[in-house]
Amino acid sequence: MKEALVRLIDLQRADKAATLAGKKRAEIDLKLRAAEKLLAGVKTEEEAAHKASQEAKAALHRNEMELKERESRITVLNGKLGGATSNKEYQSILTEVATIRAENGKIEERILLAMDESESKDKLWEAAKAKTRETEGIVRAANADVERRRDEFDAELAASKVHRDEIAASIPPDALKAYERIRVGNRTTGIAVVEVHGDYCQGCQMEITPQQYSDLVHGKSLVLCRSCQRIMVLQT
Ligand SMILES: [Zn+2]
Repeated sequence: MKEALVRLIDLQRADKAATLAGKKRAEIDLKLRAAEKLLAGVKTEEEAAHKASQEAKAALHRNEMELKERESRITVLNGKLGGATSNKEYQSILTEVATIRAENGKIEERILLAMDESESKDKLWEAAKAKTRETEGIVRAANADVERRRDEFDAELAASKVHRDEIAASIPPDALKAYERIRVGNRTTGIAVVEVHGDYCQGCQMEITPQQYSDLVHGKSLVLCRSCQRIMVLQT
C-alpha cells in the first residue's frame, strides 16, 4: 500500500496538471467569447448612435424645408401686393407676410438648435465607430491567440491525460476507486490525498489518532482523515 500511496500522490499531481492544462485551454476560448460579446454590445451602440445621427439630420432638413416653403410663400404674397384691388386686401397681404416672417424667426432658431444637435449626434456616432474598430481589434487579437495556442494547449492537455492514465493503471483498483470518489467530493480543490505533518492532517488540521499513525507507518491499508475524509500519507 505504501507504494500505491506514493503513486496516488503522483496521480494527484498529474491530475492537477491536466486540470491546469484544461483551464488554460478553456481560458483562451472564454476570452474570445467575452471579446465577441463585448463587440456585439458595442455594435448595437454604434447602430443606435447612427440612427440618432440620421434622425437629427432629418429634423434639421424638415425645418430647413419648412423655412424654404414659407419664404416662397412670402415671395408669392409680395408679388400679389401690386395687384391688390383694395386697401383692405393690401393690408391683409401685409399682415399675412408679417405673420409668416415672425414664425420664420422661430424656425430659424429651431434650425440653429437642430444644427447643434446634428453635430453633437455625429460626434457621438464617430466615437461609437472608433469604439467598434477598437473592439474589433480586441476580438482579432483573441482570435489570433486561440489560433496560435489552441494546438499547443490541446497537445498539453492530451499528454497530461495520457500521463495520468499511465499512473492510474499502476494503482490497485480499490485505492484508485477511493481516490476518484474523494476527488469528486472535493471538486473545487481536486485534493484527495493529503500529507500528515506532526500528527496533523494538512487538509484540515485535525489531529490524527495513535491508531491512525500506526496504520500509516505500517501502510497496510488506506487511512482516511476522520474530519475531511481524505487519504492521508506520512510526510516523507
Ligand atoms: Zn483532514
